[in-house]
Amino acid sequence: MTQTITNRIAGAAVRAAGRDTTPVFNPASGEEIARVVNSGASEIDDAVDAARNALGEWAAMPALKRARFMFRFKQLLDEHADDLAREISREHGKTHDDALGEVQRGIEVVDFACGIPALLKGSYSRNIAPALDSYSDRQPLGVVAGITPFNFPAMVPMWMYPIAIACGNTFILKPSERDPSAPTFAWELFQQADFPDGVLNVVHGGKQAVDAILDHRGIAAVSFVGSTPVAEYVFARGTAQGKRVQALGGAKNHMIVMPDADMDQASDALMGAAFGSAGERCMAVSVAVPVGGDTADRLVENLVPRIQALKIGPSTDAQAQMGPLITRQHLEKVTGHIEKGVAEGADLKVDGRGVSMQGYEDGFFIGGSLFDHVTTDMSIYREEIFGPVLSVARAGTYDEAVAMINAHEFANGTAIFTRDGDAARDFAERIEVGMVGINVPIPVPAASHSFGGWKRSLFGDYAVYGPEGVNFYTRLKTVSARWPAGIRSGAEFTFPSLE
Ligand code: NAD
Repeated sequence: MTQTITNRIAGAAVRAAGRDTTPVFNPASGEEIARVVNSGASEIDDAVDAARNALGEWAAMPALKRARFMFRFKQLLDEHADDLAREISREHGKTHDDALGEVQRGIEVVDFACGIPALLKGSYSRNIAPALDSYSDRQPLGVVAGITPFNFPAMVPMWMYPIAIACGNTFILKPSERDPSAPTFAWELFQQADFPDGVLNVVHGGKQAVDAILDHRGIAAVSFVGSTPVAEYVFARGTAQGKRVQALGGAKNHMIVMPDADMDQASDALMGAAFGSAGERCMAVSVAVPVGGDTADRLVENLVPRIQALKIGPSTDAQAQMGPLITRQHLEKVTGHIEKGVAEGADLKVDGRGVSMQGYEDGFFIGGSLFDHVTTDMSIYREEIFGPVLSVARAGTYDEAVAMINAHEFANGTAIFTRDGDAARDFAERIEVGMVGINVPIPVPAASHSFGGWKRSLFGDYAVYGPEGVNFYTRLKTVSARWPAGIRSGAEFTFPSLE
């Protein structure tokens, strides 16, 4: 009998009695390996109750004491990084090293969360007016929730809950239903770190669970990461319910290759950025923009053999550079995009369709694909494919390349490869994208900065983690205090001045 992955509420695994379930697959073999409970409003009610019960004590606890729990959690994550990576790969399909990289970037946010007391310390002004002292600090929001995508089942939740919890909130996580085991395993480690029950709760499911979170009056804020249509929906419905919402969406990340770039370095960078994790990264580069015909020809010439030599395999194959896609439906969707690209007249230089892996014939594998002469009116240019498909969109000049990127509706990440400092500086200034790499193909900001795109890649006013994450999960309070010795006698009816 396949295992059923159930909710974790108030410190315990909840029995899934009577709930329908969704299958979870091993994408390398195509087999159903588990089922995950499909929660609805009553499970969200239970999770909010648990989070509320834990809130008073947790929010009142000195920030330093809260941070000590976080230190223990970080230590357990370090010790179990390998196990967590295996949980990720089994259901997601990414290679073990890639999964370990994901865990590492998640741990960095936990590391940052350990230092949050310093960011909560506020500011104080003595005698800001005669005998008047004033101080400001940031206080937690209450019960907050996170809704996360399949592509980083451990890291993206860790962009959220360590920050929220270190700030004094209690948390409900609704992970992706496609790979629910890794965030559940991380919850086990969290509990082992001795956090009070109910500080972190995990509720599994899909749209029904998301809607119940958005509509629940007891939840003060929602962080979302996923596709743009759902991000937009979550933002609209959540804010209509009076919640603070940050909703990160999809991407179409371009990388400019300047004529002076080291072509081998640029080609290697593109290989990792376009095909790592089978292109299922919101920071994957899916469009290369070489400047000038000669640059484009040299780039394509370099990329073709590299893509043909890509080693595809299950996560258990230490030689594999790229695993399968997440589901059969997603494989069909990516294949459909390639068909459309051909029909629209793009030049398919490498065709990754129809890959069959011996022993894994039912897996959701596809090889790397390369399109040349892609134009901005084509659907493969406009839409997010979220698979191992790289488009080359040639630009005549650097200005044309910049204009192309600035005209795209998505604006998550971008990069430029060049030796020219002036071009790089101009690019960083003029490009209308949230995260920019200069000779860095995947510019995911460090945990002490914050992650977020512009335009239709982020709905809301706050990026995630780092200082913006702290601001998102807290609200400012300013206290003005005067004591009897400083109070002037008599009623004052003019607007209070600071004189
Ligand atoms: P998705 O939008 O399908 O799902 C994300 C979450 O929303 C899941 O928890 C899912 O259960 C829920 N959901 C799905 N459909 C819903 C609906 N109709 N109503 C309410 N909730 C719904 O995304 P995905 O396929 O899991 O992840 C891939 C997407 O996430 C890509 O578009 C990728 O670019 C994006 N992503 C963005 C970032 C970023 O930082 N901007 C990071 C990672 C992934």
